[in-house]
Amino acid sequence: MPTFIVLLGPPGVGKGTQAKILAEQTGLVHVSSGELFRENLKNQTELGKLAKAYIDKGELVPDDVTISMIRERLSRPDCKMGAILDGFPRTPVQADALEKMLSEFNGQVDTVPYITGEESVLVERVSGRWTCRASGHIYHEKFSPPHQLGVCDVDGSELYQRDDDKVETVKKRIQVYRNQTMPLVDYYRQRGKLVEIDGMQAVEVVNAALLTCCMN
Ligand code: AMP
Repeated sequence: MPTFIVLLGPPGVGKGTQAKILAEQTGLVHVSSGELFRENLKNQTELGKLAKAYIDKGELVPDDVTISMIRERLSRPDCKMGAILDGFPRTPVQADALEKMLSEFNGQVDTVPYITGEESVLVERVSGRWTCRASGHIYHEKFSPPHQLGVCDVDGSELYQRDDDKVETVKKRIQVYRNQTMPLVDYYRQRGKLVEIDGMQAVEVVNAALLTCCMN
């Protein structure tokens, strides 16, 4: 049976950072809906052009578009053993669609670590964030700076600040999270899948908690 882990939590709480570490530790593929959109943006695909308007405003890309993008990604051979989903699902409609598509792949959502964080800290975390152009490694100018300014420690590629990491857009994204994604906390709690983890702890501490809940 494949293993599917859904990382739930507000923007800036460390889902991307944790997903990357966990993927290396478990061998599961990291599937980030935000990164998939950004790849499409970079390649100027139709999907990228459509998504751009929503991403720039800090709003969610419509469910149908997002669901078919994820369905295509999860149907690739590297997801046969499962995946760590980061940023998807973000609405109950997406969560229902995920259940359906995973049952087609003989899988299910196994665990939903819910990484929590205080809103005031989240804005500071996101607005100081630098992302690696090549593979999305994440740094923070104050809390986890790269060794060399503007250069990724892992693959030497350029670091950039996402347009939607500006303070005003981050605030909007947090509000959107509260209204549209928070209902998933109860959704997965009712299904007995939710494990709450304090995301304000050190990266290694959060990682240890994640490993414990995902590998049991
Ligand atoms: P992220 O990198 O996860 O912060 O996502 C960046 C942006 O991509 C979000 O603010 C949304 O505009 C869009 N996005 C990412 N994942 C989803 C999703 N599951 N549903 C709708 N929009 C999404």
